[in-house]
Amino acid sequence: MAGIYVHIPFCKSRCRYCDFFSTTLLHLQIPYIEAVKTEAQLRRTYLGEQTISSVYFGGGTPSLLQSEQICSLLETLNANFAIDNNAEISIEANPGDLSLEKLRHIRQTGVNRLSIGIQTFSDSALKLLGRRHTASEATDAVLAAREAGFDNISIDLMYGLPGQTLEELSNDIWHAIETGVEHISTYNLTYEDNTPLTQMLRQGLITQQPDDTLNRMAELIYEKLTAAGYIRYEVSNYCKPHYQSRHNSSYWYHIPYIGLGAGAHSFNGKSRQWNISDINRYIDSVRARNLQYEKETLTETDLYNETVMLRLRTKDGICLSELTDADRNYCMLHARSFVESEKLILSNNNLKATLAGFNILDYMTRELMR
Ligand code: SF4
Repeated sequence: MAGIYVHIPFCKSRCRYCDFFSTTLLHLQIPYIEAVKTEAQLRRTYLGEQTISSVYFGGGTPSLLQSEQICSLLETLNANFAIDNNAEISIEANPGDLSLEKLRHIRQTGVNRLSIGIQTFSDSALKLLGRRHTASEATDAVLAAREAGFDNISIDLMYGLPGQTLEELSNDIWHAIETGVEHISTYNLTYEDNTPLTQMLRQGLITQQPDDTLNRMAELIYEKLTAAGYIRYEVSNYCKPHYQSRHNSSYWYHIPYIGLGAGAHSFNGKSRQWNISDINRYIDSVRARNLQYEKETLTETDLYNETVMLRLRTKDGICLSELTDADRNYCMLHARSFVESEKLILSNNNLKATLAGFNILDYMTRELMR
């Protein structure tokens, strides 16, 4: 099994916290999509004969695409890769783009999972973050998606917002649960270099939440979502039973994937490569049949470190029987103190983070890596 990621790096406007690779030059969409289709043809053998179990349109804002463009991309992918009939086909969407008519059209293309970037149900926080939708548009988008036939909906929720109280976060979590969505991804707001929000922080216009508040917020999310029947299957991701994101899980479990589009990453089990993060140069290089990318061959040590870093985030943890004898010994030697302090538990030969362990995940990961 393998996955396909398609990067759609276009946004109507830039959110204040965002440092993702995307552009507001929407006129480039048409040549860009043609280039992505050509790239799919050029790299059709990248995953060998593997069956594709997930396709993910990420961004940027893929919901800016016309349904005809989504259809045409899917046709090209189907013509060049062995996509399973029951594949999970996801698209990221901005609530501001989602009319009932648009959602019906998207559903008709074969897309069967919608990931809506809601972030918060507070209008003032949405404004501060520079999001171009309101809280009521977010709720309406979920209702409209249901009406359009989507039975697998995910929403993103951000916490640690400037000035956010635990009560305000509780309110966001309550709204998220009320929507009845199958999947909720939670993110701690991070202040990336050179974003307008980071400038506001430096100017003293906003303040960063302290670490202990962030930990308490993560715990609150855990308590409320698990009480509502969601499973924390990854440190930041919750789902109703059987609704874990197949595509995102493939990243955590080292399942190969091809990334198409400018800046997209690919992994084939032995190496990672990433396309040039420049839309015009990407288009030109594909047109010239000379795709520009960088590549890194992964050593055994790299693969071990990635296993620690990615698997510790999941509810299954690190499966020790999948490690070499040397890696297993190294891992257990460095895990011992965390097991003794109940930050990690050993269960059925899997080394898993506990609730307290998730609070110091970065530190534990560094200690277990080679
Ligand atoms: S819509 Fe997403 S990718 Fe675009 S600017 Fe906002 S956060 Fe970044």
